[in-house]
Amino acid sequence: MTLPSPSKEKLKEIENLLFNFIWNNKTARVAKNIICQSYEYSGMRMTCLDSFCKSLKITWIRRYFDNSCSSQWKHLIKDLIPDISYLAIYGVDFYRKFKKEVKNAFWIDVFSALSDLRLCIDNLTSVLSPVWYNQDICINNKSICYRSWLKKGIQFVFDFYNTDGTLLGYHEFCTKFDLKTPFTLFFGVIDCIRKLHLNYDYDNIQRSQPFFPKFVQLITKSKQGGRDFYDVFINQKYRKPKSEIKWENILNLNVDNSWWKKQNILFFKITNDIQLRWFNYRIIHRILATNTFLCKIGITNTNLCSFCKIYPETLCHLFWECEFVENIWENALIWFKEQFGIDISLNKVDVLLGKYYKYYNIFNLIICIIKKHIYRSRSKNCKPSFERVKEEIVYYFHCEKHIYKKNGDMESFNKRWNLIMF
Ligand SMILES: [Zn+2]
Repeated sequence: MTLPSPSKEKLKEIENLLFNFIWNNKTARVAKNIICQSYEYSGMRMTCLDSFCKSLKITWIRRYFDNSCSSQWKHLIKDLIPDISYLAIYGVDFYRKFKKEVKNAFWIDVFSALSDLRLCIDNLTSVLSPVWYNQDICINNKSICYRSWLKKGIQFVFDFYNTDGTLLGYHEFCTKFDLKTPFTLFFGVIDCIRKLHLNYDYDNIQRSQPFFPKFVQLITKSKQGGRDFYDVFINQKYRKPKSEIKWENILNLNVDNSWWKKQNILFFKITNDIQLRWFNYRIIHRILATNTFLCKIGITNTNLCSFCKIYPETLCHLFWECEFVENIWENALIWFKEQFGIDISLNKVDVLLGKYYKYYNIFNLIICIIKKHIYRSRSKNCKPSFERVKEEIVYYFHCEKHIYKKNGDMESFNKRWNLIMF
């Protein structure tokens, strides 16, 4: 935290070590940008080193803003960057200028990280953006800072507007800020602002007074840690996984992102069992090996189903469509109904991606155990059997009971399994 960040090459090297470990030195099957996301955004909360380093560096800005902290280093930084007290009201171009003037690698890292954060969260082309060191407000291709204007309280683009959303005239401007300034200077700036065609919402601006840029709000939000910044960087990297699009096509799903969020987090809520979580994760991300895939990459000679040997073995076929698994699901539903009096229905989507139940969430665990049994049977080259899967479910129940008992948490156990008891 107190040293310059490792070089890009070094970070890459460390990252490669980590990812090679995760994927067992084989090709990564889920993109880095995805696996670093939170569970609901289809990730595994893997650490993104670059974002992590940047977030740590930004915590120094919070310490700088914190008035209760009066350490000596604050004098040092003030000496290095006399303008630092204007940090909250300067645009990001300030960092570019600063990078040229300051040679201290540590502070360059801190301000580069801050610059990246602002590019993520601040809407830099709005009337709420800073007017000084704003990359969109340039005279002779350079962003500007007029100290005499700044001293009169001119800080943000909205300062140049009338309350009705029109731009101030020269005399109105001089009167408003009690300022004497050459009109060429004024027209230079106002011309730039006019060309931006910004939306001026008077009520919104009134509501947000006194105004603090978003990054200041974010930096002062928590007292410690870099999580707030880290989340911003990670969110920025999010792209909808291809697997989600593929599932939507295959299963004819017409769903939005909030549906996927629920679906992605489902199995992480249902169980702490790492193997089951990983098993489901692979299904959702479509990276669980089936003959269709193995044949494509030349590991098996056939793409046909391991059970029926008639149809191509896709995830849909293997877990739902095959005649050898069809009866497993039928038997399971009958079993639920006869033994526990619970009448639920299942479809392809529920089985493959899980179903969000209000009261019946334990069924997701059971569905998962059944799927695991099907997959294990495939790997062992035998047919799935409902009698055996039933035994596995009962065994799983007793294992969990033992663990919860050992942890002295039978209350949670009973709540979890209240619908089904053996
Ligand atoms: Zn089959």
